[in-house]
Amino acid sequence: MSHPVAEQPPRSGIDVSTDGGSFLGSLLPRPERRPAPLTDLRDRVALVTGGSRGIGRAVAVRLAQGGARVALNYRDNHDAAQDVLGELKGGGAHAMAVAGDVGQAEDVARVVNAVSQAFGRIDILVNNAGITRDNLLLRMTEEEWDIVLDTNLKSTFLVTRAVLRGMLRQRSGRIVNITSISGVIGNPGQANYAASKAGMIGFTRSVAREVASRGITINAVAPGFIETDIWATTSEQARKAMLELIPLGASGKPEDVAEAVAYLASDAARYVTGQVLHVDGGIAMA
Ligand code: NAP
Repeated sequence: MSHPVAEQPPRSGIDVSTDGGSFLGSLLPRPERRPAPLTDLRDRVALVTGGSRGIGRAVAVRLAQGGARVALNYRDNHDAAQDVLGELKGGGAHAMAVAGDVGQAEDVARVVNAVSQAFGRIDILVNNAGITRDNLLLRMTEEEWDIVLDTNLKSTFLVTRAVLRGMLRQRSGRIVNITSISGVIGNPGQANYAASKAGMIGFTRSVAREVASRGITINAVAPGFIETDIWATTSEQARKAMLELIPLGASGKPEDVAEAVAYLASDAARYVTGQVLHVDGGIAMA
């Protein structure tokens, strides 16, 4: 069956018709057909755990640039949190900072209540707070295992559970979990960290299936080697070895991860859930 070509609408914003208009004019996109910016986050409230430094800080700034009201959580680095808050408010954003250990249920309840009371709702949750306590397995202590699992994985469970009730009522929400390539490909000396990050991926996929019918998406971002404080204790030799593994040949910046989070938090990603988006210069490409 043939389709009458003349009746088909143009497939892009470029008008290729030649009936009357100038050639240049016909190549320019029609203003009224330009899509709205899809990472527009106005009217959204975001909670970013571990938002006082590194990747969390860049995520808080990026979401605020998209128009979101941003609550950042941190553990105890008050000065760093105030610094980010100053940057956000200086840029005209509505922002707040709440201290609390996200590995502790009572702290999580307090943090989530404070944000809900101040901003009325939470639309975007970024589970970003995380630590490392590297050691070879035979030398790894129970304390090193427990604190990493509590801070990285149990926190994801606690904060997501606390925020989800409101999202279910709203029948909308975006959750983004910051995992790691260590959780995908493993890393010697990081059995505790890799287990916590792999756990976050299983968590993401399970909850994605639980809440999809309520208009809530949950995805993970897996950064590779991103220049933040978390690498401060890494030796020059280990850094060099890691850089050699990166196909794009360089470490990433917190802003690279923040862009991926902004996408997943926005309407542009409304049909994306249960995914792991790698931001790693190609290290873990399948
Ligand atoms: P970072 O610079 O060390 O910052 C960590 C942030 O988490 C800080 O804001 C810190 O708060 C907060 N935090 C730590 N423990 C906490 C707790 N128990 N409760 C609440 N907040 C807590 O780390 P980063 O490099 O930005 O890493 C951020 C996330 O990305 C982590 O989950 C990490 O595993 C992941 N990641 C990082 C890389 C990388 O190369 N950097 C790669 C893969 C994945 P304070 O300021 O109060 O200490």
